Amino acid sequence: MSEQYSLEDSEAAIILRKSWQDMTQSLRDTLQQSIFERFVQPLEATLAEDDVVQVRAPGKFVAEWVGDKLLPLLEQDLGARMERPIRIRIVAKPIERAPLADQPVAIAPPSVESSQAFVPMERYRFENFVIGHSNRLAYSGARAVAEELGRKYNPLFIYGSPGLGKTHLLHSIAHAVRVNHPGITVAYVTGQRFIEEFLLALQNNQIEQFRRRQRSAGVWLVDDIQLVAGKERTQEEVFHTFNHLYSLGKQIVLCSDRRPRELFLMDERLRSRFESGLVADIKHPDTETRCAILLRMAERDGIAIEHEIAMFLAQNVTSNVRVLEGALIKVAAEASVADSPVTLDIAQHVVETYYRAAGTAKPGHPQILDIVSRQFNIPIDEIKGQSRKAPITHARHVAVYLARELTGDSWKHLGAVFGDRDHTSMMHAYQKISELIITNRDLEATIRRLMRDLQPEL
Ligand code: ADP
Ligand code: MG
Repeated sequence: MSEQYSLEDSEAAIILRKSWQDMTQSLRDTLQQSIFERFVQPLEATLAEDDVVQVRAPGKFVAEWVGDKLLPLLEQDLGARMERPIRIRIVAKPIERAPLADQPVAIAPPSVESSQAFVPMERYRFENFVIGHSNRLAYSGARAVAEELGRKYNPLFIYGSPGLGKTHLLHSIAHAVRVNHPGITVAYVTGQRFIEEFLLALQNNQIEQFRRRQRSAGVWLVDDIQLVAGKERTQEEVFHTFNHLYSLGKQIVLCSDRRPRELFLMDERLRSRFESGLVADIKHPDTETRCAILLRMAERDGIAIEHEIAMFLAQNVTSNVRVLEGALIKVAAEASVADSPVTLDIAQHVVETYYRAAGTAKPGHPQILDIVSRQFNIPIDEIKGQSRKAPITHARHVAVYLARELTGDSWKHLGAVFGDRDHTSMMHAYQKISELIITNRDLEATIRRLMRDLQPEL
C-alpha cells in the first residue's frame, strides 16, 4: 500500500474508472461480440477536465466509428453512472500500442484546445460524399455555400430522412470553410444542444454570454433543427440569432428531417425565414449509388472488398446509408475475426443473419409494433386502434417514432400502417416523442434500447 498521494487515486478518477468498467461490462452483453471486441474493449478512458472524459481508441478508424455510432450512448450511459453530465472526447492513438488491460485511469493535463471551437469529423468531407441522383441538389447547394459564403444561397435548408448524409454535408461545409476562408469561425450546433445550452444559460443568468457565443459565428450550421419545434422560448432565440446573423450577411445552413412546411409547431416567421433561400432534399439512394457509397467507404477505411460483393450488399441492404455502413463494418469485422479477406460467403452470411431475417434490410412495421407492444404491454390492435387512453397513445407515439427513425417511410405511408391515420397525426406523434426524450431520460433509454434491438447494426 503506497502512502504517496497520487492523482490516479483522486475521487473523480476512481469514480470514472469504476463507472467505465461497469459500462463496458454492460455493453459486452448488449453489443454484438465482434463489434464489442473491436470497438469497445480496446477503449481507454481518462479524465481530461471536470466534465470531459478523454477516450483513446486504437487508430483513427475505431475512433471515428465510435465517435459516430456510440458517442451519445457512451455519454449518456457514463454520465448516468457518474451521476453528472459529461462529454466524451475521442482521440486516436497509434495502433501499434497494444492496450493494457488494466491500465489505470489517470488525470490528463487539461487540454489547450478551446471547447468552443468546432472540429468537424475528419471523414465527413465533400471528397468522401458520393453524389447520386438522390442527393445532387443538396450536395451542390452545400458546395456552393462553402465557396460563396452568404452570397449564393442563404439560408441553405437541407432536409431528408435519418441516415442520408445531412450531418455529413454540414461537416463538409465546415472543412471547406476552414480551407477556403481560414479566418472565419464556423459554429455548429444541433437543435438539442441549442435547447440545452439556452436553458442552462437562462438558469444561470448567462443569456448575454450565450448570445455572444451564438452570434459570433461567421458561418452558422444548425443540425436537426426540427428538435426546437414546439419549444417556444428556444424558437424565439433561434429566430433572433437567425436574424442577427442573417442581417450581417453570415452564411446559415440548417438541416432537418422534414421540410420547413412540415416543421410542426414551428413559428410561422421562422418557417418562412427557412424557406427564403435554397431548400434542398436528400432522398434514399438507388442501388448504383449505394454500391458506389459502399466502395468509397471501404476504400476510406482500408477495407478490401470486390465490386461484386459491394453490389451484393447494395442490393440486399436497402435502408439508409447509416445502415449500409453498418453492414460493411459487420462484414469487415467478421472477416477480420475470421482472419480472412472479405468474401461473398461472409457477405451472404451477414445479410442472412442481420438483414434477411427481418425480411428486409430495415426493420418492418410488424417487428416495430411487436416490440412496442411487448415493451408497453399493449396489444398491437390497440396501438393501431382508436383509443385515446394515455398509455395507449403513448405506446402508439413511440411506435410511430421508431418507425419513422428506422424506416424513414413517408408520413403518409406510416399513417396507413398505423390504422389509417392522417399523416399530420403521424408527424405530431413523432414530434411529441422527439421532445419528450430530451427531458425524459428513462424514455430516452428505453427508445435507445428498442432501437438497438430492432436495428441490426449495433
Ligand atoms: P443524417 O445526418 O442525414 O442522419 P449522416 O450524415 O449522419 O446522416 O450519414 C450517415 C452515415 O452515412 C455517415 O457515416 C455518412 O458519412 C454516410 N453517408 C451518407 N450519405 C453518404 C454519401 N452520399 N456518400 C458517402 N457517405 C454517406
Ligand atoms: Mg444527422
